[in-house]
Amino acid sequence: MDEVDCAVIGAGVVGLAVARALALAGREVVILEAENAFGTVTSARNSEVIHAGIYYPPGSRRAELCVRGKALLYDFCASHGVAHRRCGKLIVATTADELPALAQLQATAQANGVHDLQWLSAAEAQALEPALACVGALLSPSTGIIDSHGLMLALLGEAEAHGAALGLCTTVLGGELQTGGGAVLELADGTADGARSRLRARQVVNAAGLGAPALARRIAGLPADSIPREHLAKGCYFTLPGRAPFSRLVYPAPGHSGHLGVHLTLDLGGQARFGPSFEWVDTIDYTVDAAQATPFYAEVRRYWPGLPDGVLQPGYAGMRPKISGPGEPAADFRIDGPAVHGAQGWVNLFGIESPGLTSSLAIAEVVAGLLAEAQE
Ligand SMILES: Cc1cc2nc3c(=O)[nH]c(=O)nc-3n(C[C@H](O)[C@H](O)[C@H](O)COP(=O)(O)OP(=O)(O)OC[C@H]3O[C@@H](n4cnc5c(N)ncnc54)[C@H](O)[C@@H]3O)c2cc1C
Repeated sequence: MDEVDCAVIGAGVVGLAVARALALAGREVVILEAENAFGTVTSARNSEVIHAGIYYPPGSRRAELCVRGKALLYDFCASHGVAHRRCGKLIVATTADELPALAQLQATAQANGVHDLQWLSAAEAQALEPALACVGALLSPSTGIIDSHGLMLALLGEAEAHGAALGLCTTVLGGELQTGGGAVLELADGTADGARSRLRARQVVNAAGLGAPALARRIAGLPADSIPREHLAKGCYFTLPGRAPFSRLVYPAPGHSGHLGVHLTLDLGGQARFGPSFEWVDTIDYTVDAAQATPFYAEVRRYWPGLPDGVLQPGYAGMRPKISGPGEPAADFRIDGPAVHGAQGWVNLFGIESPGLTSSLAIAEVVAGLLAEAQE
């Protein structure tokens, strides 16, 4: 049986960031990825926004890791030539009764250590974005956009330069914890006969995204009550052909739904997209039904009345890897080490939805710290 020091399961942005951190710390690392390429699942199906850290409950992991991750990410992009733009974002109140929600957001942001939000009157906001309709806005100058594939390529490149190896078409079927730490993992490769093999790893990071809870349940020895139930919430995007009418991101004031509303984001090519929508679903299905554009028109016209009829095109969809269900308070990120489940040399990452892309380097710091502690 092959043996390795550290196995990272999943080559999304979080798994790749963790692998890089471990490789930089001098650890032997293998990344096990079920698909035939890295970064093709949730890390390829998001808004590519570098979030400022405005929305999350103060003291939560999401707040702390978003703010830390944002700083690390801007530095990483600058030092590794990853395309990004600190374009800023406007969070807009379209009626006077939405203004208190903006004031609440500013207070939350302050508590999270985000001190750069600026109040704008309607006239000030419209001076920045003439197409915008609003009664007031918050400007977040430190929000940006990033080429997420460029980021993942850079993370993988640096991990590989420090000895990490990526195994594609390698599905971790399950495994068994070992006395003394680590696990033996059961692997299937992507060939027609699905050849099986086993790998012994001294330390394992379960960064399998949507599949993380199910995979954890297939690891003999992990306590069942330490593994959350997973839920799926689908988000669809619609794209706007032609030139974007805005140069900053535009988000509506938060409603009661707990998600960020149908917002306008830009890609680095300057194309605008609207979304993501929010729908609880039971199965993973990335199709975008053109008929779903209908409610987008009303939502977008609240802040952009000039949206012409019939222009929105189905874009793409992503699945939020949720660990809280309908009607429950939004769960925090979970980075579960031995203190949670008792298994030495094993870390589970659960519920890494937004802002997981922004937080990836900060999550990697925490995971590398947990595994280094376990070695001492
Ligand atoms: C609609 C939407 C919009 C978002 N927008 C933003 C945003 O603007 N900014 C932001 O910061 N965050 C955003 N996020 C969150 C961000 O996309 C995720 O937090 C991040 O991509 C999660 O990365 P990951 O590596 O944990 O998961 P993934 O990218 O899903 O990677 C997990 C990998 O594990 C592999 N895998 C699964 N099971 C196995 C197995 N058994 N064996 C081997 N491999 C396996 C999968 O194939 C996959 O490649 C958004 C998310 C969604 C859904």
